[in-house]
Amino acid sequence: MIDINLHTHTYRCRHARGDAADYCAEAVARGLRTLGFSDHTPLPDGRWSSVRMAMGDLPGYCRAVEAAARAAAADGLRVLKGLECEFVPEFTAFYREELLGAMGLDYLIGGAHWYPHRGEWRGIYGTAMTPEQLRAYADYQITAMQSGLFAFIAHPDLFGVAWESWDRAAAECSKALLTAAAALGMPLEINGYGLRKPPKETPSGSRPMYPWRPFWELAAECGVAVVLSSDAHTPADVAAGLDDAAAMARRLGLRVVSDPLARLQAAT
Ligand SMILES: [Zn+2]
Ligand SMILES: [Zn+2]
Repeated sequence: MIDINLHTHTYRCRHARGDAADYCAEAVARGLRTLGFSDHTPLPDGRWSSVRMAMGDLPGYCRAVEAAARAAAADGLRVLKGLECEFVPEFTAFYREELLGAMGLDYLIGGAHWYPHRGEWRGIYGTAMTPEQLRAYADYQITAMQSGLFAFIAHPDLFGVAWESWDRAAAECSKALLTAAAALGMPLEINGYGLRKPPKETPSGSRPMYPWRPFWELAAECGVAVVLSSDAHTPADVAAGLDDAAAMARRLGLRVVSDPLARLQAAT
């Protein structure tokens, strides 16, 4: 059984329910030993604010996680304080000095829901991508990995939302992303939330939008290590999809990183 999940949201991001204590209670009931919170980070210029907490919510978020951590220690649950970040290069000092520095967060996850293309940010949900945009998405993910800010990259195959078939462009862009992850020793996340979302209907049948199986077959070939997450947006889902993601990793021969934060600690 997988007993660690580092990808958890709270009500503050405006599309999740429950607070840290509610998730901790559920995590203890389900036998987790480590629970990390990674709500969607606010950004200094307030962009994309409809799906993330406001800057003013950040201290309350930290206090809620810290209080839940103290209470959960008696139940043998280790609780960590993190954030899931869109990587905006001009905010590097904010991530490093404010979030990881002054606020003392344990870790950051890189999670892209937007990517830059020809000087503009484009949402992954919404319209289909062109091959050039897919390449921009992959290059952007590589830049995020190279920043050294992130413990792991959430749902690197999120482009499966916008890309219909596993074709040459999908394979080439994925190969570039996966080769970079392997070279950097950057774990990539098999995301349980994707398994709970409605499937994508394509001409060749329905499939999860993500995790997208051919992406992970290629990940195994490239020797990429993986992290398994529930990406919980409601307390009942605190461990949802972890066992399915583990089964997928096992079938494909992917190495699961048991504690991605140990790697960070070793590096400092
Ligand atoms: Zn979310
Ligand atoms: Zn998330």
